[in-house]
Amino acid sequence: MACLKSIVIPAVLFLVVAVHHSGYRKPLHVLAFYSTNVEPDHVEFARQAIPFFRAMAQRDDFDFTPTTNWNDLNQEVLSHYQVVVWLDDAPALPAERRAFEQYMAHGGAWLGFHIAGYMSSRQAWPWFADFLGTVFSGNSWPPLPAKVDIDDPSNPMMRGLPASYLSPANEWYSWQPNPRSAPHIKVLMTLSSSAFPLGFKETLVPGDDIPVVWTNTSYRMVYANMGHGNKIFTSVEQNRFFENALLWLGGRLR
Ligand code: ZN
Repeated sequence: MACLKSIVIPAVLFLVVAVHHSGYRKPLHVLAFYSTNVEPDHVEFARQAIPFFRAMAQRDDFDFTPTTNWNDLNQEVLSHYQVVVWLDDAPALPAERRAFEQYMAHGGAWLGFHIAGYMSSRQAWPWFADFLGTVFSGNSWPPLPAKVDIDDPSNPMMRGLPASYLSPANEWYSWQPNPRSAPHIKVLMTLSSSAFPLGFKETLVPGDDIPVVWTNTSYRMVYANMGHGNKIFTSVEQNRFFENALLWLGGRLR
């Protein structure tokens, strides 16, 4: 009896701990798509993003899988992942796009960086234009650091961030129409008015309203315009936001 007790009690204790643990942390599997045959500054961003998110996955106890195989953007593969990340590229094939639309319509989550939000025109992919709430209209150049303002400090993704911070050198896009005016779009960060004038080509000027991070409240999605070059992960504040965003998308931050 004494011997049985010594086995049963630790086993029960282990089960209690295990159940408690799994209740606290739902499984989170993240699939990150990137490409190596795109603009070198975008490849560089993806190459830095992968170790950044890998370290985060270890710290926050989730599974992070990077891939360059965009064919994995299909219903079967996506069914194993709670969050999909596009590190500076987007699907080109109709079947991949349809699979993504279905995934998002059925509760999938998406984090898109920089050129992941690029489209030459609305006609290129009308569903995505509505999903993003806008279409790319220009890019200021060269990549420069810029102060960004937090639009909604009460949003869980802004936890631990100051009211504004200096975002490292990035190629900043402008958009038409302004995503702020789109239904269901909630802007989370905007280039600070003190950042202007910004750039020498397609210079952003005082009075411009340039949202840089937003969410479409009809979906579980976040778009971040950051993602050009090798400086993006050099800001403690911005890194905090990236971590918050992924954890929020994965249901780990409320
Ligand atoms: Zn770029």
